[in-house]
Amino acid sequence: MNYCTSIENNQSKPPKLSKLPLLAMAKLVPNRTDRTQFVAYCWCPYCRTHHLHVWDRSNARNKREHRNAHCQIDTPIDASGYLIGFPRRRDCEGA
Ligand SMILES: [Zn+2]
Repeated sequence: MNYCTSIENNQSKPPKLSKLPLLAMAKLVPNRTDRTQFVAYCWCPYCRTHHLHVWDRSNARNKREHRNAHCQIDTPIDASGYLIGFPRRRDCEGA
């Protein structure tokens, strides 16, 4: 599987949401406690593990949503968080 991120490091000001890295959703499984949602397994290239996030079933396939970082180690995205969603071809250019 091709995991990719697009990131622009600019430490002088908070990054725009559109500039945050994308954590690609690798798998969606039904949320047992809420049938309107999935649990999304998102691969994190910074701490090299999957982070689990809730993902609404009604979300469009190309939707991106911001999430606070779930990294258990210090990573460059601790403060900013990241976006989750399905990767698009242009996200992978240069990866
Ligand atoms: Zn992480």
